[in-house]
Amino acid sequence: MIAAGRKLGRFQLQRLSDGQFRMDGGAVFGVVPKVLWEKVKTPDARNRVTLATNCLLVRTPDANILIEAGVGPKLSDKERDIYGYEREPGLPASLADVGLRPEDIDLVVMSHLHFDHCGALVTPGRDGELTPLFPRAKHVVQARELQAWRRPDPRSKSSYKPENLGILEESNRLLVVDGDATVAPGIRVRVTGGHTAGHQAIYVTDQEQTVVFTGDFLFMRAFLKVNWVSGLDLYPVESMERKVSFLQEAARERQLIWFYHETEPMLGYWTGEGFEPV
Ligand SMILES: [Zn+2]
Repeated sequence: MIAAGRKLGRFQLQRLSDGQFRMDGGAVFGVVPKVLWEKVKTPDARNRVTLATNCLLVRTPDANILIEAGVGPKLSDKERDIYGYEREPGLPASLADVGLRPEDIDLVVMSHLHFDHCGALVTPGRDGELTPLFPRAKHVVQARELQAWRRPDPRSKSSYKPENLGILEESNRLLVVDGDATVAPGIRVRVTGGHTAGHQAIYVTDQEQTVVFTGDFLFMRAFLKVNWVSGLDLYPVESMERKVSFLQEAARERQLIWFYHETEPMLGYWTGEGFEPV
């Protein structure tokens, strides 16, 4: 799809990429045996699998809304090597490709605040000073997730980076919601938990059509299997429980499922029995 975009009711959906990176396959697939997951994702020589960053731009009649915001330009050389990060084309260039400037973005919504979901929001200017990439936008975050970013547990510390949100908080650009909420006409957030306590899915609906942005709740297509739970989930039992009801609803309501980290195909339907790409 999506370079040319796709319609959802009166809304236009576009995928904006902030590049690809790699993560250890064992960390991604958790207790799933390697003999099974390597059939789905081929690891490289360092046992890493490739992860996309499929940010979702929603253009409604009233607003330009960006869901998720990539890894960004601030990784250290060491992190860049660990994650094999290639920022091609990068979020600002992706945005320019669809004819928009950063100041055209009205609202940013994030599933959660790990570095690979909000890393592009604050970028160093020419003088090295950090500035908001989207100067006019409000940035929607879930209250529990913000708490976790402020005071991360030891395991999450390297994922929640102070520099990714600090100046957005200081300059009053965060819009904090507590629980399920409608954050703009047709845009609803619903807490999933599982991956992190405050993780949310984002539901985009117009004229009775819905696309669900699943963030790390459904890490990749392979995680459509209820008992495939990522080793990166802090609350794996919660993930499985939520997934059962999520998938029932997605099939019943024929909701499109958007995978943030999946390489192609990254959009499609769950029929109740299998995945049907579009
Ligand atoms: Zn992620």
